[in-house]
Amino acid sequence: MIDPTIQAVFFDAVGTLLFPRSPVSQTYAKAAAKFGAIPSDELIRHAFREAFARQEKQDFRDGWKTDEARERGRWRTIVGEVFPETNADACFAELWEWFGQPAAWMVQAEAGDLIRELRSRNLVVGMASNFDSRLFGLVEAFPELTPLKDHCVISSDVGRRKPGKEFFAAVAKSAGVPAECILFVGDDLRNDIHGATAAGMQAILFDPDDRADGGPRIRKLADLVTV
Ligand SMILES: [Mg+2]
Repeated sequence: MIDPTIQAVFFDAVGTLLFPRSPVSQTYAKAAAKFGAIPSDELIRHAFREAFARQEKQDFRDGWKTDEARERGRWRTIVGEVFPETNADACFAELWEWFGQPAAWMVQAEAGDLIRELRSRNLVVGMASNFDSRLFGLVEAFPELTPLKDHCVISSDVGRRKPGKEFFAAVAKSAGVPAECILFVGDDLRNDIHGATAAGMQAILFDPDDRADGGPRIRKLADLVTV
C-alpha cells in the first residue's frame, strides 16, 4: 500500500488516531446539565453541526488562519450557539478542560503497532492536526502516540490550519523530506486529502464506514502495511 518513494507518513489526529471516548453530544449534555440545561441529544447534535460549520466558513474566509486564541474562540462560540440559554462561559470552561484530558479520549487500537511498524521501516512518522496545544499533552499521555511527539504539527502552533497550504508546508518542514515523499492519512476529505494532495503529497483517506466514492482509501489503519 505504501509507495516505495514515501519517506514520511503523517496522520490526522481526531477521527484517525484519536477518538472521543463518549459521543460529543453526550459530553455536551452532561456539561450543560450542570448549569440547568436539558436539551435533547438530537437538538445538541443538530446545533453542534450547524455551529461547527459556521466556524469552518469563517476560517475559510480568513484564509485558514488560526492560533490559540482563535481555537478557544471557535469552541466558545460553538458552545454558546449550542446552549444559547445556558451559562456558556462556565459550560465552555468545563468542556475545554475536559477535552484536554486523556480520560476524554481513546487511541485507535491499531495505532501503536502500526506506528512501530512504520518506524521500523525507517519512515518518519508524525501527526498533523487542527487541534490546539492541548494535543501536545495528549500525545505525551498516550504511550502509543509518544513516538510521534517530535513530528507533531498543530495548526494553532503553525498559524494556519488544514487544508491551507502553509499548514502542509509546515508538515513537509517537520518531515524533512520533499512533499512528494510524504503520505498523509486522514478521515476528512477536504482538510486531509484535498489539502495534502494540493500540497503535492500522496494521501489516503481513512474511511472505516466505507462512505467515499473513490480515490485511495483504507477501512482499517493496519491496511496501510498489510494490503
Ligand atoms: Mg480528523
